[in-house]
Amino acid sequence: MATLEARADAALTRMSAHVESGDTSDVVVSRSPITGEVLRTLASSSSDDVDRAIADARKAFDAWRVVPAPVRAGVVRRLGALLTEHKDDLAELVTLEAGKITSEARGEVQEMIDICEFAVGLSRQLYGKTMASERPGHRLMETWHPLGVVGVISAFNFPVAVWSWNTALALVCGDTVVWKPSDATPLTAVACAALLRRACVDVGADPAIHQLVQGSVAVGEQLTDDPRVALVSATGSVRMGRAIAPRVAARFGRCLLELGGNNAAIVAPSADLDLAVRGIVFSAAGTAGQRCTSLRRVIAHTSILDELVDRVSAAYAQLRVGNPFEDGVLVGPLINANAFDTMQTALEKAQSDGGTVVFGGGRVGGSDGDGDGDAYYVTPAIVRMPAQTSVVEEETFAPILYVLTYETLDEAVALHNAVPQGLSSAIFTNDQREAERFLAADGSDCGIANVNIGTSGAEIGGAFGGEKETGGGRESGSDSWQAYMRRATNTINYSDRLPLAQGVDFG
Ligand code: NAD
Repeated sequence: MATLEARADAALTRMSAHVESGDTSDVVVSRSPITGEVLRTLASSSSDDVDRAIADARKAFDAWRVVPAPVRAGVVRRLGALLTEHKDDLAELVTLEAGKITSEARGEVQEMIDICEFAVGLSRQLYGKTMASERPGHRLMETWHPLGVVGVISAFNFPVAVWSWNTALALVCGDTVVWKPSDATPLTAVACAALLRRACVDVGADPAIHQLVQGSVAVGEQLTDDPRVALVSATGSVRMGRAIAPRVAARFGRCLLELGGNNAAIVAPSADLDLAVRGIVFSAAGTAGQRCTSLRRVIAHTSILDELVDRVSAAYAQLRVGNPFEDGVLVGPLINANAFDTMQTALEKAQSDGGTVVFGGGRVGGSDGDGDGDAYYVTPAIVRMPAQTSVVEEETFAPILYVLTYETLDEAVALHNAVPQGLSSAIFTNDQREAERFLAADGSDCGIANVNIGTSGAEIGGAFGGEKETGGGRESGSDSWQAYMRRATNTINYSDRLPLAQGVDFG
């Protein structure tokens, strides 16, 4: 079998993606979490490179914004076709760099294809309203115009889908894009940029509408601070959002924040436990707990608690942890040593708070089967907690599922909402009153609230994002496109008089 490096090279070659190797001190290292080995070392973008990328994107915007939206959609349509053609190639890179199992990596690329389709349809539906004017002979309406350069900053765990959610919409909306991917996943970014460049060339669009810059925090900060970047769409930790938001606000730029989650599922007495167990296991252990929507808390009614914990533990015992390329493996590696250490620290803290680890949590794999080397595989953990202590209120980006209990639904909803984050949520119940209460104004306070499915695995058709420390942004479907455009309100007087609004008489 080819080495991981050779597999990455082959996938890049099939996508005609050229990697600029870095030989200076300023490099981005692509390291596979599967073994910890280095795949490639790339040159990091210098401050001048970033400046040039923003200038080129700004220049390209002048022409792109007046191309009719359905014509702009041609690029996105072609990108969708190229992604379909190279679905397995790009998925292979996602597995190599982010450690996702093949099925989830393909799912991520499918999500990109889906959003391209959505954006193409959207290009003919960038609707503005016409409102009734209070003045005779007047028309009141709104129009939506392209916004400018969109700076996309993305996280390691969805290395390609988040880019496509932003870029497909931004391009049909008439914006141009400068993308700074996570420095953990630079190769997937090179591949996406190469496919988009090809799409531009194929349909005769200016490839400068999309710019890729590589690097770590300093590159992100430069995008954040540059007034030519009209919208900073940033996906990552709450810590990152807390750093970015005030800087963008200080220059009156726009921010779209997609930050951390601390997602919970309430399991009610009437729940279909077969469904609940499957939903919980996929949401909590899938992607090795490294999704923003990963299930981190189960709030179970005391009457079904023991049975639920037993059944979820039994299902966890069946999960194969290991090389994400292998058939039958459902849980791949953590991204790096730091993720493993953070997980272990959280488990220790939970236990010192009175929690009991009822399943997993330890390191597995490696040549001796006990876990060694530079790859970090863990058994997903289940921890019963006596209360929602401070460690439960944090997002630990690893597969830890805390189990809490409740007696009344009011109590469950209160526990559910008593964390700083507000991304995704679920209730498992067959009681319609409970389900509706969970979705009501005094129910879940999250941007995503589900009934009888888990917290992860959203479709692109709905708006995606969350409240509170999750940042308030919405991406992907529904009317999320409005964040990528500016709205103008127009009043047109087609009469020969000039009546003033609110009945004002001015001579
Ligand atoms: P991270 O915050 O470490 O990095 C995310 C991106 O922000 C990277 O590109 C990084 O280089 C950049 N960055 C970090 N600090 C910055 C700063 N001060 N200025 C500018 N750029 C900066 O996150 P990560 O470890 O890559 O990803 C995991 C986190 O992302 C989790 O918290 C997860 O919940 C969150 N996430 C959220 C969503 C969502 O849609 N809500 C989706 C995926 C991931």
